[in-house]
Amino acid sequence: MQSLILQDSPRARQTAAVCDTESMPPSVEPKSVDVNVTTGTGVEIEWRDGHRSSYSFQYLRDACPCALCNQERDQSGRKPGEGVGQAGALPMFKPALRPTQTEAVGRYAIRFTWNDGHQHGIYGWDYLREICPCAECKTARASAEMAK
Ligand SMILES: [Zn+2]
Ligand SMILES: [Zn+2]
Repeated sequence: MQSLILQDSPRARQTAAVCDTESMPPSVEPKSVDVNVTTGTGVEIEWRDGHRSSYSFQYLRDACPCALCNQERDQSGRKPGEGVGQAGALPMFKPALRPTQTEAVGRYAIRFTWNDGHQHGIYGWDYLREICPCAECKTARASAEMAK
């Protein structure tokens, strides 16, 4: 299989419900998810409210929500999706980051196993929507940050 496409499926396919998507706002429920592993371009999500998000694999890896990465970001003051600073150091050669495995976790999240060996991140749809890198969402986040 070249790329994974999780299409919107009728509720008939829902088995033991992991979470009640009925109560999810349309902004955090994806209509379609494309993981472009072959082309390496990243992940594209179209949300039920019509919004589209496109993430590079590097961006997602840097935004990994697992406890380990959260702690690392806390200590370095890095925000989810922000790359590790290379200040003063020569950038090391790294092969292009891509997932070696992509799995749907119930109806609420997606899990990637990365080619750098990292595999604990489970990306909930609400989290992915929250870190949407588009200009519109970035601006909204920046002004929310200022209002704090
Ligand atoms: Zn992680
Ligand atoms: Zn957005």
